[in-house]
Amino acid sequence: MEIRWTEELPESIIQRAMRSSLGELCAEAAEARDSAHGSLVTYSPKVFIPLTKLCRNVCHYCTFAETPRRGTAAYLSREEIIGIARQGVVAGCHEALFTLGDKPEARYSAAIDALRALGHASTISYLADMCGAVITETGLLPHVNAGVLTSADFERLRPVSASMGLMLETVSPRLCEPGQVHHGSPDKDPVRRLETIRLAGVHKVPFTTGILIGIGETRLERIQSLVAIRNLHRQYGHIQEVIIQNFRAKADTRSADAEEPDLEEMLWTVAVTRMVLGSGMSIQAPPNLSPGTYAQLVRAGLNDWGGVSPVTVDHVNPEAPWPSLDDLRRATALAGKVLTERLTVYPAYVEQRNDWIDAGLHQAVLRASDGVGLARTGKWSPGLAVSRQVPNHLAEAPVGADLKAMVSRANAGTRLDAGEIARLFAARGPEANYLFEAADDLRREKAGDVVRYVVNRNINYTNICSYRCRFCAFSKGKTHEALRGAAYDLDLGEIERRVREAWDRGATEVCMQGGIHPAYTGATYLDICRAVKRAVPEMHIHAFSPLEIQQGAATLKISVEEFLTELKQAGLDSLPGTAAEILDDNVRAIICPDKLKTQEWLDIVETAHHVGLHTTSTIMFGHVDGPLSWALHLLAIRDLQDETGGFTEFVPLPFVPMEAPLYLHGKARKGPTLREALLMHAVARLVLNPLIPNIQASWVKMGVEGLKLCLDAGANDAGGTLMNESISRAAGTEHGQELPPVDMRKAIMALGRMPAQRDTLYRPVSSERRQASVDAAPLAAVVQTPPGGPRSLASMARATERLSMSRGNDK
Ligand code: SF4
Repeated sequence: MEIRWTEELPESIIQRAMRSSLGELCAEAAEARDSAHGSLVTYSPKVFIPLTKLCRNVCHYCTFAETPRRGTAAYLSREEIIGIARQGVVAGCHEALFTLGDKPEARYSAAIDALRALGHASTISYLADMCGAVITETGLLPHVNAGVLTSADFERLRPVSASMGLMLETVSPRLCEPGQVHHGSPDKDPVRRLETIRLAGVHKVPFTTGILIGIGETRLERIQSLVAIRNLHRQYGHIQEVIIQNFRAKADTRSADAEEPDLEEMLWTVAVTRMVLGSGMSIQAPPNLSPGTYAQLVRAGLNDWGGVSPVTVDHVNPEAPWPSLDDLRRATALAGKVLTERLTVYPAYVEQRNDWIDAGLHQAVLRASDGVGLARTGKWSPGLAVSRQVPNHLAEAPVGADLKAMVSRANAGTRLDAGEIARLFAARGPEANYLFEAADDLRREKAGDVVRYVVNRNINYTNICSYRCRFCAFSKGKTHEALRGAAYDLDLGEIERRVREAWDRGATEVCMQGGIHPAYTGATYLDICRAVKRAVPEMHIHAFSPLEIQQGAATLKISVEEFLTELKQAGLDSLPGTAAEILDDNVRAIICPDKLKTQEWLDIVETAHHVGLHTTSTIMFGHVDGPLSWALHLLAIRDLQDETGGFTEFVPLPFVPMEAPLYLHGKARKGPTLREALLMHAVARLVLNPLIPNIQASWVKMGVEGLKLCLDAGANDAGGTLMNESISRAAGTEHGQELPPVDMRKAIMALGRMPAQRDTLYRPVSSERRQASVDAAPLAAVVQTPPGGPRSLASMARATERLSMSRGNDK
């Protein structure tokens, strides 16, 4: 392979690099970095797994490589490797960094014998086996540094390694000459190393590389090395980060007395790397090799600290301990940045995982990542209990002026655009805390300190559904049989009984939704409304998602408007704004491909508002979506509200993953992180201001402690007591099926806020209703009428025929 750099060495970069002052270079580099990476400086919490320290090379500065020693195993055993990885899991790591010598079997018979005993013919074969074991047994994502690799090696390793790396070190062939550091090390031939980096591009492997400075190269040669990396990245787009590693002299090496590069050399090289590789490239320097200089390095344009281990030493530089994460966080904050955890594979490659990451690794990657492809932090998922403690972020890191300006505009009721809203969702650390406080202030101003709740009962009349929403663990259909619970289809008598019991227990509302039963028609929904009013005429019927409205209208062959009008006459009072999921068709195509499209949902809700039926609005987030789709969703809700004024509230519904098919099949994240869940409430408060004054938190998804956090981050409403929550419980939430009014009031008062029972439309309820809710008797056991009961059998045949005709037309 021909090394291409000299003819393409940009004269302007050389001129600026060689002639500008260090201060000018650093300022230019930092500005470029900020334009792409904002306030974040990342690192990867990792364990370091030195699979073997045998190596066929003899680099003069290296203490990692060892020669075979009697009594010392040539390779770490599987048990040792899994043991290290498990320690990493306990310590919150996401990455298993396999670093090893280059092809030791090419030099040592001890390596050949050891591999044979392990059942492998090559180091690469054993490495691939161990990477697979780490993923399967711990979920950590392997990153492999295995030296110079062939095409066959990449094919073997890609399915078990989320990313890989090889330090280019230098393109200078001079350093392979006698007396130079790479003399006698065949794998340090720059042509071979560049060829490995090129092959990584060919095989679509997110790749880490970098240069080693202070090993005898000149500044010009450093630039040449960086340009060579840039050229390969331009061709393949696979270089995810570039490491600037400074040579450290080690005792007992041939370079023991060589001079180490000083801080100015490091800063110059970091800044010039930014100029050569551009604003978007991730540029890192290992913090353990430059203690005490972190803030200067950040100011020189880096945006990443690489892997830092809370468990293992840096086996390549064992004399250089990792900094404590608190020190690193504080120093990063002093430079105006927020230290943030990432995965071994960078967000852009997580987002484009179908191209860049082997399908067999998607599950592990998604389970470890948040909404932008950075690392999930904390163990919380929707449906699990949350600790009251919010992560403590250092006050030193500043809040961006752009973010403050957006908050001011939102406070004034200005419509932010999608890019601005996505920027709000990117807030972390002190910026996230700033948004929580700003949203809380706005909540106080617009909605006061009263926290309202409605005493209601969920009645899910059937869990039989002909749709195949991939997030849904509730429905029973051909693809969902294995999920929790048996199929049921309530008869009207049981529905009426539940309504009467709910009234006796202080309820003012029944909230009714169900699966899209193939035998249901619009007449079924009308019958259900009449049954509720027959049982308790005063009961508010809050029922039927826009999907059910569409189905009901289609089966009766009438318009949505006509059907809604009929439902209203039969007693329907308002609609839940569910089935919205994410109002972004790109996401809907993945999570609910056969459901309503975004515009259909909006049209049905708009029609409901026009016929005088209020609706709620919801978002179900944290699966395969991200900040931009959240922003589009919020804007769609805001714009419709601006037109109709028909939404009573906005309800963020964090995706509960545990039993959801999409998650079980490895195709979704573990729901939003706690930061993302709280931000959804805070950002909604700001973005929907002043059009939607009520932001509701879901105790079903967040738990009581999570509910309290949301009420401190912009939410003002605690939703319903529910009595029979079953949809989220089917998905795996641990938060029970009812939050009794007494407990609801207790949770609200613990925040120093005033609880108040409301009706569905946010009006106060009578003292009789309040007292009835407090004096409520225990719930009687429910009867889950099995499918095929009298009502179903009577209508099944003709309705199925009608539905299939109408759905066939729809599609
Ligand atoms: Fe059916 Fe609703 Fe579940 Fe979709 S979300 S499968 S429509 S019950």
